[in-house]
Amino acid sequence: MFSALKTSEIAPFPSKVWLSSPTMHGPELEYVKEAYDTNWMSTVGENINEVENLACRKIGCQYAVALSCGTAAMHMAVKLAGVKPGEKIFCSDMTFDATVNPVVYEGGVPVFIDTEYDTWNMDPVALEKAFTLYPQVRVVVAAHLYGTPGRLDELRAICREHGAVLIEDAAESLGATYKGIQTGNFGEYNAISFNGNKIITGSSGGMYLTNSLEDANKVRKWSTQSRENAPWYQHEELGYNYRMSNVIAGVVRGQFPYLEEHIAQKKAIYYRYQEGFQGLPVQMNPFDGGNSEPNYWLSCLLIDEAAMCQQVRGEQEALFIPEHGKSCPTEILETLAKYNAEGRPIWKPMHMQPIYRNHGFVTREGNGRGKTNAYIAGGSLGMDGKPLDVGMDIFHRGLCLPSDNKMTKEQQNIIIELVRRCFE
Ligand SMILES: *Cc1c(COP(=O)(O)O)cnc(C)c1O
Repeated sequence: MFSALKTSEIAPFPSKVWLSSPTMHGPELEYVKEAYDTNWMSTVGENINEVENLACRKIGCQYAVALSCGTAAMHMAVKLAGVKPGEKIFCSDMTFDATVNPVVYEGGVPVFIDTEYDTWNMDPVALEKAFTLYPQVRVVVAAHLYGTPGRLDELRAICREHGAVLIEDAAESLGATYKGIQTGNFGEYNAISFNGNKIITGSSGGMYLTNSLEDANKVRKWSTQSRENAPWYQHEELGYNYRMSNVIAGVVRGQFPYLEEHIAQKKAIYYRYQEGFQGLPVQMNPFDGGNSEPNYWLSCLLIDEAAMCQQVRGEQEALFIPEHGKSCPTEILETLAKYNAEGRPIWKPMHMQPIYRNHGFVTREGNGRGKTNAYIAGGSLGMDGKPLDVGMDIFHRGLCLPSDNKMTKEQQNIIIELVRRCFE
């Protein structure tokens, strides 16, 4: 089916094909206009109340507190967990740094847990091992990468066994389910995001989710500068200006009814890629089909080790040596960019980030990549030119494909053809 596209016939896309861009439907503007017309241009109003109700109904939690962003929701989660300066906290390693930064805001010290190949999320085997190395740890922060739920049963059982609580970062996985339950319900403390590139968006925004009225009330208070119930501004605790605007809430309110539509579009994109790549030495980002249904936020590729051409990444730039029958993320990303399509490298693991390089990092034993224990993280490949751990390996061989829900079948076919050509 793709042989019909001859090399010479492929022209750059006249308008950019995005990784994941906002998709507005109309009602968003009505709710924003309503806020404007009624002068509720503030951090209180009907849109905020409604969007909190919508989130509770959709996700199945009792309380939702609308905040300025997902990072703020994660910060509130870390505060509720009572993280103290100097306290070590186990964190997902292959994630966006907004999962981890709020731990540091409170003085916590992230210790990173390596990734598993089956879901690209926190490896329960490495987590179990981490508790033998750091038995005093009592908070675990886990994200669901690219909208694919992690191994929640295993992670929660290990937390329970060691008396630890789970902070669930469901920023990328809104609408994804694990054993039929929406992500955002599994932690003692939970966060979602409405950032511009997420599956639904307010242009910005986030939410704290909980079944605890007491926690919900604390977050409401802290996020509005911790004002006490007094006639004047009375403060007994440190406060934050983290509440969602009623204008932003109007956008989110208009988006919520379209969540399932966006998921269906993203799912179709994922499976079209999977079909289109048949016969290539690649696999799509995997998920645990028996237990979870992702929201398919981003479609990703992992190139077979044997089909990787040489690729070297420094801190700011990448080089590769083209080779017949082989390719690498850098070659594919550069090709896509040349044709006006946006891909992205896999989120660079936290243990490889200069800011977190001196932090602890725990891998599972016998992952076949040389390191079998906790070690101080480094940035580059091993002496043999091979990655040292699972996160580094997926970063080395993987990439995020254009996954915009407005991408047409024809555009996607061209992207598939461009990827195929990289392996010729
Ligand atoms: C987007 C994102 C966040 C933060 O959300 P913002 O609304 O952008 O602050 C947190 N964690 C992960 C994994 C994310 O992808």
